[in-house]
Order: sequence, then C-alpha cells, then structure tokens
Amino acid sequence: MQIKVYFESMEIIHVSAECYPVAKAGGLGDVVGALPKYQNEAGHVAKVVMPMYRTKFLLNNEFDVVHKGYTNLGSWWFNFTIIKETTNKLGFDLYLVDIYGLLDREKIYGYDDDPERFLGFQVAVVDWIASWEHRPDVIHVHDYHAGLIPFMLKYCHKYQFLQNIPTVLTIHNAQYQGWMGWDKSHLLPAWDGWKWGMLEWEGTINPLASGIKCAWKVTTVSWSYLDELRVAANGLEALFEYERGKCVGILNGIDNAVWDPETDSYIDDHYSVETFAEGKLRNKQILCDRFDLDIDKPLLIFIGRLVGEKGADLLPQAIGDSFYHIGRTMNFLILGSGFPEVEAELNSMKGLSRNDYNVFIGYNENLSHLMYAGADFILMPSRVEPCGLNQMYAMRYGTIPMVRNTGGLRDTVIDYGDEGGYGIRFNYAAVGDITQAIWRAVNLYYDDEKREEVIRQMMQLDFSWETSVKQYIDLYQSL
Ligand code: ADP
Repeated sequence: MQIKVYFESMEIIHVSAECYPVAKAGGLGDVVGALPKYQNEAGHVAKVVMPMYRTKFLLNNEFDVVHKGYTNLGSWWFNFTIIKETTNKLGFDLYLVDIYGLLDREKIYGYDDDPERFLGFQVAVVDWIASWEHRPDVIHVHDYHAGLIPFMLKYCHKYQFLQNIPTVLTIHNAQYQGWMGWDKSHLLPAWDGWKWGMLEWEGTINPLASGIKCAWKVTTVSWSYLDELRVAANGLEALFEYERGKCVGILNGIDNAVWDPETDSYIDDHYSVETFAEGKLRNKQILCDRFDLDIDKPLLIFIGRLVGEKGADLLPQAIGDSFYHIGRTMNFLILGSGFPEVEAELNSMKGLSRNDYNVFIGYNENLSHLMYAGADFILMPSRVEPCGLNQMYAMRYGTIPMVRNTGGLRDTVIDYGDEGGYGIRFNYAAVGDITQAIWRAVNLYYDDEKREEVIRQMMQLDFSWETSVKQYIDLYQSL
C-alpha cells in the first residue's frame, strides 16, 4: 500500500508594531523581520502587517495600494489605506496600514495617543481581513499593540464571522501592557457587553491580558521567561498561572543572513571562525580610534535600552567600582538611549575617561554591528530578559557574553567555568555581581588559550531560526 503524505502550506498573518528593516526599536523588530522570512523558506505563506510610520524605508521603497477602507473608533470615522511593498525583497509580503492623523508619525512609540493609534491600527487590520474572500490559516499577533485582535475576532459583532480563524499571541515583553481606562471602551467596534471580563485586568482595559485570555495559544520568547512570568509579570502573574495550559516558550532565533561577520553589510572588515583574531582586532581598532579607547585592553560593551529592565542604571557604579577595585585594565563603550538620568550620568562619566570609557547616546544600527564585531565582551545585567538577542548576535561575532542568570539569557549562555560553557554568568542584577563578572572577564581576556577556545566554540553555535520555525508551525497546526 502506498501512503501519500501531503505537505500543507499555511497562510500566516503576522500583525506587529515593529519589523526590521522597516521600523525597529528592539528585539520585536528583529523577530518579525526574520520569522516570516524563514516560515516562507519552509514552504508557507507568511505575511506581515504593520503601521505605516514615516520611516526611511517608506521613502526609499515602492508600494502598491491594495485596499482602501473606512471605519471608526467610536464616533470618529476615518479612511485607511493598505499598501504593499512591490518587490518582496524582505522575503515576505509586507503590508503597511496608513491612518492619517494616527500612524503618520516618525517614531514608533512614545506619543500620548498611543492607545488610540494602536487601536486604530488593529481595527483597520481586522476590517481589511474581513473584506477578503478567503480566510488565513492563522493570525499571529505580537505584544500588546496587536493584543486586542483575538478579542475583536471573538466578541465584536461585526467580525463574528471571523471567529474561527485561529489566533496566536507572542509575548516579547510583558512589562508593557497598553493599559487603557474604561472610558475608551466605546472606541472598540461594538462588542458583546457580557464579555467585558475578556478585556479587563485590575480595573482597566489591558490589551496584553486580553490577548492572553482570548488568543487560542500564547507563546513567550524563551522557556525560562515563561516560568518567570508566573512570579513576576508586572501584575499579570495570576493570569499566567491560570492560563498556563495554553502557553508555550519558543526561543527566538537570529537572522543569520543579516547577522554574519563574514558578510555583514554594516561592517567593512569581515571575518570567520578561522580568522576571528585578526578580523575582530581590525574592527576593534576602528572603534578605539573613533571613541578614544585603548586597543591593548579588553573592550567591554553594552548595547540596549537604558532602562531598569536592562539593569542600565547599575552601569555607572559598576564601571566606577571596576576601575577602582580592579584597576584601569579595561575599556567600556556603551550604546543606548532611555532614562534621561541614566543617559546624563553615563555622559558625565566621559570626563573621567583615561582613554578607557565612552558612550554614544542614541539608536544606531551601524554602530551596533561594528560593536558586536569589535568588542571582546558584552555586558547584559538585565533584571528581566524575555529572550535577549544581543547575546546571540555577540556570540556569532565572537564577543563573549556576560549575562545575568535570567530569562532567555539563562537559556542561551552557559558559564565557561561549567562543562561545555562559553560565557560568563552571574546571579544578581547588583553592582557587586557585575563587578565580579568584569573581573572574571579581564582574567579571561589575558588567558589567550582559553579565550580563543571559548570564542571558537561560541561562533559555531547554531541559533538559526530553523528549530523555532518548526515549533511555531507545529503549534499552528495543532490549532
Ligand atoms: P529588547 O528588550 O530591547 O527588545 P533584545 O535583546 O530582544 O532587547 O533586542 C535588542 C535589539 O535592539 C538588538 O538587535 C540590539 O542590537 C538592538 N538595539 C538596542 N538598542 C540599540 C541602539 N541604541 N542602537 C542600535 N541597536 C540597538
């Protein structure tokens, strides 16, 4: 008897506020810029829908208008337009939603009317999907900005006929939940009033909580983060405990096509696992020249949002203590932006530099790639780290991660003192632990043989998307 196995290609619609290279503020952008590409490579049809911000990508690319709609937020009726990038150069169909007055801004976040902006975006997306003649196999929403879509599909009268479309919510960061007062409840398309509990958490409309309650499945971007959310989830702990049956952890991958020291288009001096010693040194030289640092000392970097979650507020004292207790035997270079107090403190420390400290306040994709390539160590003293991509990029570029033992950092980095290990791990987001990790880093730096062994091992680790793509597809299929 002959058994035929049919491969079922699925249509997956990703809805997100960020997508690299269109608009990125952090890891969410990287993931939504890569996961759909690798889902397509695996034979599926994955598409991305996001707001049409006024970013460089918009100006430098060509688009076709594919839909024009008219809908409302409460009594405010508005026109919206969906445009599609014409060349498919990202490896997936990219759709941008334009809402004049709401989404036509340069920044992704940080406006007073963010709740209305993302609500308008979600209503437009669902309205557009409702106009299709076919149904997608799954709608995959990311973070709170798209977290109300599962509710809308289930309980808004207008979209009831879409309620059988499976939904998946991926939580990249549970700190931000999109809280809205009940006075905004009339902005949602008319909904079944009995279901108010599906929007509510502790007295407010909570889009992330609503997504967790209403999505068919919920994923987090690492296994450890899922465990931690049951005890620390910015108020949603009980909900994660209650809904644990539908939650799974799927570790992010990294886009090896973008993040490859052999081909990276942001750096000039390429290298491989065979040539890392000279290759990294050339990149380090560029950094040291540009930032007045000493090439002969180990270069420790930090890249990221300067916020409490990342432990950025601990950096000034940890750096000061290291210089004082360990000596001026290392360089620090920091790239990031965030809390004004932390930015100011880090900036003010430039005056104390003896060619061994510098900081670049801002967001700079080019510089970040050069830093992954030229640094010796990357410091991540995060209090919370859902997955963390920096440590994975760093390892691919031969930069040794120094990470706090939490979330995705715990899942991806093994201490070099343990069997098979290749990084530096510490337990607490505290100055003492960070300083001790810096001391270990300096010692490792001067142990050429061990350091090179660690780098060689790290650079060959596989963090590609392949395994995670398979897990996502299995999850969709289970629906
Ligand atoms: P987050 O919690 O911020 O999403 P992740 O580790 O998941 O943290 O992802 C961070 C991503 O953002 C990485 O690609 C990192 O290189 C990038 N990034 C963060 N801050 C900056 C910055 N100031 N300039 C350039 N890239 C940055």
